[in-house]
Amino acid sequence: ARKYVVKNYFEGVPKRDDYEIIDYELPNLQNGEILTKTEWISVDPYQRAYNRLNKIPYDQFGYQVAVVEDSKNPSYPIGTRIITHKGWCDYAILNPNELQKPPNMIYKLPNLKDLSPSLGIGAVGMPGATAYFGLLEICKPKVGETVVVTGAAGAVGSMVGQIAKIKGCRVIGFAGSDDKVEWLEKELGFDKAINYKTADIDKALKEAAPKGIDCYFDNVGGEISSVIISQMNAKGRVAVCGSISSYNEVSSNVVKAPILQPYIVSKELTIQGFIVTSFSKHWPEAFAQLVEWIKSGKLVTREYITEGFDKIYDAFIGMLAGNNFGKAIVKI
Ligand code: NDP
Repeated sequence: ARKYVVKNYFEGVPKRDDYEIIDYELPNLQNGEILTKTEWISVDPYQRAYNRLNKIPYDQFGYQVAVVEDSKNPSYPIGTRIITHKGWCDYAILNPNELQKPPNMIYKLPNLKDLSPSLGIGAVGMPGATAYFGLLEICKPKVGETVVVTGAAGAVGSMVGQIAKIKGCRVIGFAGSDDKVEWLEKELGFDKAINYKTADIDKALKEAAPKGIDCYFDNVGGEISSVIISQMNAKGRVAVCGSISSYNEVSSNVVKAPILQPYIVSKELTIQGFIVTSFSKHWPEAFAQLVEWIKSGKLVTREYITEGFDKIYDAFIGMLAGNNFGKAIVKI
């Protein structure tokens, strides 16, 4: 079997040399265990962000879709498709009975009807659940309200904007290229999309949301978030999902935060962070709803697929650089 091991703490953008691909023999299967063959691997921003929370070296964690190739666990017969957090490896031996708590949990691929199993690590997986619970449980948007999402063309953001449209909101998204802006407006039904790399953000947002912003789903943090929060309406809600604009910053280059407290106080804003695995008990409900929306054409999914085990690093770096439309995944 092969797996990616992270050898170093990243400084700036992760380097190819920070990883080593290790070839190793898998042990014999014990009672309760399953042998899994990886089909799809997810590359995600938290694989960058959580680097320093681990002891070096560590196996690169992450969600994957795998199929059971051999089994000594009657609940997981050969051929069962599962989602695991085993990361960047091509085969694994797992004991489902010992892997019940998030994030290191195993669960059977949700019923996707005839949709691609790869959606199990995207729109009907962790990123889909992030959009669903972050928007509906934290932002709690009401019909007619204005919702802003950053990282709008990504795995989470593209779902957030579309779910907000389903809920009857006016939706504004920020993304990093004109092609992404066009996709968001023409294919995903965003009311307005803005290229944050070229626009005057403050001015463009005032024009796009003349009545102010009620909900902000924050995927990127940094300066753009400060501008958005400064334009929020009274009792506005902010779901802080991530801060990808800072993940690849070298430690010496941390941006000083502008003073947002006057807006937060005077507008009585609620700003709440969340971790999607805290909702893991409710993921199945979200997945059933997401599948229904996808099947009925209300929710468009897009995947940015890289092929080959040897290309996972490139897919990861490409995602951090913004190459992906929708969910960045690797076909093994
Ligand atoms: P995406 O599919 O959105 O991919 C990352 C995107 O980030 C890129 O495509 C790029 O798009 C954008 N980006 C990169 N650098 C910057 C920058 N400096 N400023 C602004 N945008 C940038 O990833 P995900 O949808 O998987 O994740 C989105 C966010 O959600 C991340 O912050 C992630 O950490 C967070 N997250 C949080 C979870 C939670 O439980 N709280 C769970 C899952 C994700 P562009 O072209 O627009 O720059």
